[in-house]
Order: sequence, then C-alpha cells, then structure tokens
Amino acid sequence: MPAEIVGIDDEVRSVRTYHLRLSDSGDAASYRLRAGQFNMLYLPGIGEAAISVSGDPSDCHELVHTVRAVGNVTNRLALSTVGTTLGVRGPYGSHWPLEQCSGCDVVLIAGGIGLAPLRPVIYELLAKRERFGRIWLLMGARSPSDLLYATQYMNWSYEGITVQTTVDRPTDDWSGNVGVVTPLVERLELDRPNQTVVMTCGPEIMMRFAARSAQRIGVSTDHIWVSLERNMTCAFGHCGHCQFGPHFICKDGPVLRYDRVAALLEVRSL
Ligand code: NAD
Repeated sequence: MPAEIVGIDDEVRSVRTYHLRLSDSGDAASYRLRAGQFNMLYLPGIGEAAISVSGDPSDCHELVHTVRAVGNVTNRLALSTVGTTLGVRGPYGSHWPLEQCSGCDVVLIAGGIGLAPLRPVIYELLAKRERFGRIWLLMGARSPSDLLYATQYMNWSYEGITVQTTVDRPTDDWSGNVGVVTPLVERLELDRPNQTVVMTCGPEIMMRFAARSAQRIGVSTDHIWVSLERNMTCAFGHCGHCQFGPHFICKDGPVLRYDRVAALLEVRSL
C-alpha cells in the first residue's frame, strides 16, 4: 500500500518517529492493527525493513513507526522528508496479551528503543485504565539523552503508570537511578505476583535477565511475554529467514510467551 510521510519527530540519537498516512482511502478505512504487530516498510529501489508499530492501535488514521537508522533501508529512510511516499505491507505478527492483562497488575520492562513496540500497550492500558490493577513501566537507557519518549513519562505517571527510569551512564545533572534496568524489577513489591503480567522488549540479554528477575519476584513464566527481532523478510512465515527453533518470528512472533522460547534464548547466536 502506498503511504505518505505526513510527520517526522526527532526522538533520541539516530532515532526518528515517522507518521504515515495510507494514500488509498480504501486501504486506510480497512487497516486494523494490534499492539505489538509490525509493518514492512518499503523504499523503492532500496528494499524493505520490518518495523514495529509504536503508535496508538485504536487510531489507524496515521501509522506511527519509531525507527533507528542502522541499515540500508533505515539509513535511507532517515534522509526522507515529509511528503515522501513509501510502501507499507502489514500489519504482521502476533500481538501483546492485552486480554490476559484484564484485572491484573502489569509490568512493562523496556531497554532503549525496545520501548517503541511497548508504547501501543501503554496507550491501550491507559484507554481502559480501570480494567487493570497497578501498572509499572521500567525503562533503561544508555544515558539520559537516550531515554525514548521521555517527554511522555510525566503524562503517563499522571494517568496511573508508575514510571521508573535508569541509565547506564549518568550525566552530571542526572539524579535518578544508575545501572541496567533489571535490578529495578527485583525491587518491585508486587501485591499479587500470580496475577501480574510482564511484557518486555529490548536487547535479548536484557529480556533474559528481566524474565529471570520477574520469576524471582514470583511471576510465572507463562505470565511473561517478550518481543523478539530476527531477519524478517517475507513477513508471513514462508521464506524461513526469521526461523527461531520451531518458530517463525514474523508469524508466531514477534511477541512470544517466555516459557515457549526460554530454552532457545539460552542458545548463543540462534
Ligand atoms: P541498548 O543497548 O541501548 O540497551 C538498553 C538498555 O537495556 C540498557 O540501558 C540496559 O538498561 C538494558 N540492558 C542492556 N544490556 C543489559 C544486560 N546485559 N543486562 C541487563 N540489562 C541490560 O538498547 P538498544 O540499542 O536501544 O536496543 C534495543 C533492542 O530492542 C535491540 O536489541 C532491538 O533488537 C530490540 N527491539 C526489538 C523490537 C521488537 O522486537 N519488535 C523493536 C525494537 C527494538
């Protein structure tokens, strides 16, 4: 589907958020997505990249993607301006378990740009805030200037999310937590760990440690969900490029229940 870039926000270093509008009114009217899914973004003559949706799933008027410039397609995307037309295929993949969260406490654990695929969850939780118990967002970044969407944290706090941040490398004016994000998990005092759902996205090693920490504070592995990234190419489980053990990350993932992938995540370079 052709889509036009209608807005660009500079986020943190090398990261921008693109607001896209589908050019065809029929495409726009029928497009629906779930939090956690991704689109394939296509730049003519360059190629495609799989990018998670980072906007509000209830508002498909604009497709919102937060992208770090790291490869062929994303570096070229970083040079585009408002008005550029690109191609969109999607949405693809599995979604975060919002249904399972109903009546539960929710812990979101994000590392770096891993907050992007979790932001749609935040929008959904806040839209129906009364359906959920306590909600935490634990966010880790390399430095204070790498904290993605930092201008939104205050609003999210006002709306009922306990936001805790930490940075690996503080600056002189930083008075918050220092260190990786996982110790924040172990410091949580959960009222009802057996009714708590954990969703995490970030570097894989972080998700592994975050899942272990969540288990230590009483959350069972079938209540922990991770979002994985592999080389998604066809996006519908046909080409095999994103195979991960018995799973295709594009079709069975990117969001997977931790107990289904825990053993695979221990295998180096899989
Ligand atoms: P990063 O390397 O800057 O790390 C972010 C934070 O993760 C760190 O500040 C720290 O708090 C935590 N962390 C890192 N290593 C850790 C460790 N060994 N133990 C505990 N915590 C640790 O992150 P980045 O460069 O922004 O990368 C984000 C990751 O998110 C990428 O690996 C990317 O694959 C992933 N991602 C996934 C999706 C998806 O699955 N849909 C989307 C976007 C990004």
